[in-house]
Amino acid sequence: MPAPRPGPTDAYSMILDAIDIGTYRPGDRLVESELADRFGVSRTPIREALQRLETQSLLARDGRSLIVASLDHNQMAELYVVRGELEGLAARLAARHATVEEARVLREMVEADNALTETPAALARANRRFHKQIHLASHNRYLVQQLDLVYRSMALMATSSLAAQGRGAIAQQEHDRIVAMIEARDEDGADAALRTHISVAFTTRLKQDAARREEEA
Ligand SMILES: [Zn+2]
Repeated sequence: MPAPRPGPTDAYSMILDAIDIGTYRPGDRLVESELADRFGVSRTPIREALQRLETQSLLARDGRSLIVASLDHNQMAELYVVRGELEGLAARLAARHATVEEARVLREMVEADNALTETPAALARANRRFHKQIHLASHNRYLVQQLDLVYRSMALMATSSLAAQGRGAIAQQEHDRIVAMIEARDEDGADAALRTHISVAFTTRLKQDAARREEEA
């Protein structure tokens, strides 16, 4: 198993990580002085990080305030289309190029993550580690860069589809299938298995959003 990801140390990554894990949610206001206190860094790097995040559309202006941006329905749908294509390609290339050791790491991840199906936050982090491992196993640096961009925008989704009732256990079965296809060097099978996984995740999210709209109405 790889070592757990060390916590980020620069202001940009710390804020991005805080959005990613839900400390700050879409619509929340980000205040320079509060962030400086929270992360124990001076205001200059915080200001620069906020500017960068705004340029990347991860933050939006609300009057004079900066708030965490949110994805509307169309943006979410667009993001899932790109994610499905790129992740499918990553799985296909992983089936072709993954080393024996990389495939073994993926297998061990699936087995370890099976213990997390009842803890959505831990499973969501484990899920990102798992997908990142597939991206790396594709051995295509440009694809890895594009997928990093997709995952950065995904941080703007308020909740993980893995929080849906029963989704964690099924997602793990899907991960198992993806790894089996990579182990078998079945490129079409790996591509299809990952596309299916992303499609089910998107369907789950649409249902979550529909239920939330009902609660709010
Ligand atoms: Zn997954």
